[in-house]
Amino acid sequence: MARAHNFFAGPAVLPLSVVEETRDAVMDFAGIGVSIMEISHRDKAFDKVVAEAQADALSIMGLSPEEYAVIFLGGGASMQFAMVPMNFLNTKADYVNTGEWASKALKEAKILGNAVEVASSKATNFNQLPKNIKFSGDADYVHITTNNTIFGTEWKADPNVGSVPLIADMSSDMLGIKRDFKKYNLIYAGAQKNLGPAGVVMVIIKKAWMEAKAKQNLPSMLKYKTHVDAGSMYNTPPCLPVFVVGRTLKWIIKEGGLDAIQARNQKKAKLIYDIFDAHPEFYKGSVVNKEDRSLMNVTWNLPTPELEEKFIAEAKAKKMLGLKGHRSVGGMRASIYNACPVESVELLAKHMEEFYKANK
Ligand SMILES: *Cc1c(COP(=O)(O)O)cnc(C)c1O
Repeated sequence: MARAHNFFAGPAVLPLSVVEETRDAVMDFAGIGVSIMEISHRDKAFDKVVAEAQADALSIMGLSPEEYAVIFLGGGASMQFAMVPMNFLNTKADYVNTGEWASKALKEAKILGNAVEVASSKATNFNQLPKNIKFSGDADYVHITTNNTIFGTEWKADPNVGSVPLIADMSSDMLGIKRDFKKYNLIYAGAQKNLGPAGVVMVIIKKAWMEAKAKQNLPSMLKYKTHVDAGSMYNTPPCLPVFVVGRTLKWIIKEGGLDAIQARNQKKAKLIYDIFDAHPEFYKGSVVNKEDRSLMNVTWNLPTPELEEKFIAEAKAKKMLGLKGHRSVGGMRASIYNACPVESVELLAKHMEEFYKANK
């Protein structure tokens, strides 16, 4: 089978080896004679899948299992927008509004309590990250969105929020960039951008803080503690998506961990951003500050909508898919997640140079 060059924003490209391992497990899981979709989640072979995924995730992030727990939940990142404030918003929470997903997180928190928008780049259509943010200092937590999938900005450095717990939606750059993960009390990431298929969200949580601060009077399914105490097996987890995430984590380790993954992502992103910088009047990058440019989602416009359509159609003829920008912003977006091969990005860069020469 010929694989297309996949630039979809999510669900998105997975490592070919992971797709193949999943295909095999869909037929026969671990030589047991049943599919990964047909085995009890209480079977010890599946226990092993969950336990290894938890251990591998922590080891990649350099976190200790004594301090942090990893759980796999349904409901997507959008469910976390509500679960975070349900569990941790008492008097006040600080939200940094850097895009559509950040806005949705803020909206949910406002339904549940006093969520304060401490900074926003909405006035410039989220084409940059807010600088010199004034945090409250006494909030229950600060919430950020590390990578803004739709607008193409990314926090390269982890913010300093003092002793206030830091919470991040890392859905679209989870394990694509090195971070000081110890700075975070809670991290969540919908799998379908950089980790696996849709249907599961990975949550990493600092256990002592959860024990001390999480509200208890909540429905069981909406309490982090329920899932942490049950080792992420309180109810039937999304077994197949968890399996795939587990294989992706092993792939990351095999590739050399976050150092190697980040280096490759930087190399891929540079191939495209260099073209913006060479032809700024033609390839109009949406992000104004170079330091905010995402390694994962590269966004731009061409001089006219007609040229944009032509660019996308010609790319499609070369088997490059998913380059249309999000419906809310238009233009173009290349999502070049961990599993997007360097060769795909090289082909896109070549297409950009050729298209520039033919249409400038
Ligand atoms: C895609 C995305 C979401 C939404 O994820 P769902 O799984 O569809 O709920 C939230 N945050 C970010 C940063 C995203 O990229």
